[in-house]
Amino acid sequence: MDNQTNSQQDVNKDEQITLRCSKCGKSITPAEAVQTPVGYRCMDCVRQQQRIFDTSKPLDYLWGFLIAAVISFLGSLLTSAIGFFTFLLAPAAGVAVAEVVRAVTKKRRGKKLFRIVAAGVILGGLPLILVSLVNFIAALSMGSFNLFGLLPLAYKVLYLFLAVPSAYYRLSGSRRL
Ligand SMILES: [Zn+2]
Repeated sequence: MDNQTNSQQDVNKDEQITLRCSKCGKSITPAEAVQTPVGYRCMDCVRQQQRIFDTSKPLDYLWGFLIAAVISFLGSLLTSAIGFFTFLLAPAAGVAVAEVVRAVTKKRRGKKLFRIVAAGVILGGLPLILVSLVNFIAALSMGSFNLFGLLPLAYKVLYLFLAVPSAYYRLSGSRRL
């Protein structure tokens, strides 16, 4: 396995640490090096590897977006009923989005797909945020300021803050470089 010996650190005359890419053998500084399970790699090789791992197809983007938007909307709808338990619901909704998308796209993956799914989760959660906002403003304009009137809005915003990273990392983290 000379891949591994190549990836070991060489100390040059200036006692400056240089590394070697385990794939192409190019010298790289520690700042440029990316640590992978098979040793240090240069950015070019890492990018190339990512392109190979990007298996998603155009139709996956459409399905990923729709699934994410629909599940996210339903989750957002539930926040009104469960209030505080949004803390538990939101990460679960994110996981549900990721798992359904993975099943429908047959576990194909790609950075663009992950981003589109995250965008779908955001878009699915926005309509009810707007509704809550409009309701709150309407109540205000009728002279009834009630701090608790902000709660439905707060839960829906919180929901998105928890559901989006949950969906993204569940989907993207299932296989590492
Ligand atoms: Zn390289």
